[in-house]
Amino acid sequence: MGVPAGGPGVGAESTAQVITHSHSSARRSADTELRDYRAAFAIAQSAMALLAPDGTVLDANRALGTLLGLSPERLTAEGAASLLGLTGDAHARGAFHDVLSGRRDRLRCTRRITRGDGAALRAEITLSRAAGGAALLLSVEDVGERDTLREQLRHLRMHDPVTRLPNRALFFERLTDACVTTDGRTGRIGLCYLDLDGFKAVNDTLGHRVGDALLAAVARRLLSCAEPGGHLVARLGGDEFVLLVRDSTGTGQATELAESVLTALQRPFDVAGHRLAVSASIGVVEREAAGSSATGLMQAADTTLYWAKADGKARWTLFDPERNEHRMTRQALSRTLRQAVERGEFVLDYQPLVALDSGELRGVEALVRWEHPHFGRLAPNRFIGLAEEDGSIVQLGRWVLAESCRQARAWQQAYPAAPLTVSVNVAVRQVWDSDLVADVAAILAQTGLPPRLLQLELTESAVMGSAGRPLQALHALHEMGVRIAIDDFGTGYSNLAYMSRLPVSALKLDGSFVQGFRSAEHPNPADETIVEALVELAHRLGLTVTAECVENAEQAERLRRIGCDTGQGWHYSRPVGAEAISRLLA
Ligand code: C2E
Ligand code: MG
Ligand code: MG
Repeated sequence: MGVPAGGPGVGAESTAQVITHSHSSARRSADTELRDYRAAFAIAQSAMALLAPDGTVLDANRALGTLLGLSPERLTAEGAASLLGLTGDAHARGAFHDVLSGRRDRLRCTRRITRGDGAALRAEITLSRAAGGAALLLSVEDVGERDTLREQLRHLRMHDPVTRLPNRALFFERLTDACVTTDGRTGRIGLCYLDLDGFKAVNDTLGHRVGDALLAAVARRLLSCAEPGGHLVARLGGDEFVLLVRDSTGTGQATELAESVLTALQRPFDVAGHRLAVSASIGVVEREAAGSSATGLMQAADTTLYWAKADGKARWTLFDPERNEHRMTRQALSRTLRQAVERGEFVLDYQPLVALDSGELRGVEALVRWEHPHFGRLAPNRFIGLAEEDGSIVQLGRWVLAESCRQARAWQQAYPAAPLTVSVNVAVRQVWDSDLVADVAAILAQTGLPPRLLQLELTESAVMGSAGRPLQALHALHEMGVRIAIDDFGTGYSNLAYMSRLPVSALKLDGSFVQGFRSAEHPNPADETIVEALVELAHRLGLTVTAECVENAEQAERLRRIGCDTGQGWHYSRPVGAEAISRLLA
């Protein structure tokens, strides 16, 4: 701004002069500004142009000419829209015109532009209104290199350096995409999730370099199994790989792929002077994409891989919803088991042991059941194993023992003429992890049950090779007058000579012997001969013999002939509640 001259007494003329003066000085200064601006504009590294509101190029700098490979005349002759290749793209052209007409402040987009020499260019275009004026400032930046660099960085971030395969991050991205069904796809996804068997040993013994080389070789074999474009092979980390089938046609396709992977890995690997053999365990999951999630699929694949390993490795296993259900309830059960004992969710059923010759009721076996609040009544095979694993069997076993003895004493008092033995199953851990002898002594004292009316059932494997604590416990219990029975005899070592040295009173022949008898039309004399010899030997050693799983009269008759003492099974009664036993006694 010019400095206004004048002051008091300044006339109109001079005022006008002042104004003119001031105006011209403003223009001069604007001209200077424009000149400076022009100079900067001309020499700037950034490619720029000034556009008129109709889109014609008023002025363009050298950098823009260089970038687009056009002479300054060509630049000003053509409209900006055609220079930037916008004419063919209605959407981009619309946005461009919106800025020109003032409907929109700014436009920024990335486009492929064809240069004057025909070469392609990836450019970021910015169009905005020049400050205060009607003209618009266009700037164009070559982002090809930047984008290439970005892509290289992304590639590095998304790939595993050892095998050059897509890594976990990229795999999850693709899997997530695959879960979104779109037209033209089968709508199904297949996954082969594999883990090398014994890879750790290679790594540990031959070192990481050999390990890495082996992984890279495995990756190449996996790629050879994959259909280019159709399957994605990725390394998830360590020795875990995954093959994704995007447009799966069914479980057959996924299991065939798994099979081909196993075959491909069968040939040994020659790596860094070593000949190495590896196998893989593969979890196969195949399902509808709709309703699937990447994490859900991977959880299923993980579980299935675990099954493949547990089933013996070097194989593929297909996801099985039922097996999974079982696993889930197993988890759910194991979580609630401990409190269940405290909450008293268990009940006992009793199954009669009947004298084979007279048909008299001699005793009952106590069989525990879990009245689960969600799953209903559960048989012991659902939870005894879990209870043994987590140790809650000790508490549960103590409760079973106390409740059985209380009930047996009640029967003894109510029906003194027909004393019943109660037979209680004891888990190995109860012998090892608790003071079974002290527990039994205390319970017998509390309930008043005579020790001879209590029988403890242990499995062969529990007492086999017993020395130290278990052996002492058996002797102490025997001395107390409690009977010891070997449960499921015949399924383990069946070492009668060994049993005879233990303080054992009874054998319970496993149900499989009786089932081996078959029917009258197809008798199996071999089985009968074995059982007969067993019974004879047991009797000579002073043991009584109970046969389990007696399901019909014919079996009962043959067992009686062979010389078994008592029988237990559905032929006599299923396991029943205590009241039902009371009714039998009455
Ligand atoms: P176990 O001691 O051999 O018990 C006999 C099993 O055979 C019982 O199954 C019984 O219901 C079943 N059974 C009885 N008669 C027949 C028959 O004629 N045919 C067939 N097919 N089966 C018959 P349950 O009650 O399911 O018990 C399974 C196992 O659970 C028991 O086998 C025992 O090892 C264990 N168990 C049960 N209660 C307890 C317990 O309180 N503590 C411990 N540690 N284990 C228990
Ligand atoms: Mg038993
Ligand atoms: Mg048994």
